[in-house]
Amino acid sequence: MEIISRADAKARGLHNYFTGVPCKNGHVAERYVAGTGPCVVCDAENQTRYKKANPDKTRAWQRAYRERRKAKLAGEASA
Ligand SMILES: [Zn+2]
Repeated sequence: MEIISRADAKARGLHNYFTGVPCKNGHVAERYVAGTGPCVVCDAENQTRYKKANPDKTRAWQRAYRERRKAKLAGEASA
């Protein structure tokens, strides 16, 4: 995998970048340019943990996402 800095990835319009350096939890993985977690593995683990801890919020968020998506697709279809 190509080693690239966050700034370079951002300049190239990439979503992920890779430093080759293990994150604070020891994952050698890509990191999200826009992410909050140290790496994509941590980010996924954080999301899983959050969903488990907040099932109601997760369901509400998923419902809102589906509605937004439906509205967007409907808008594209009529455009
Ligand atoms: Zn990690």
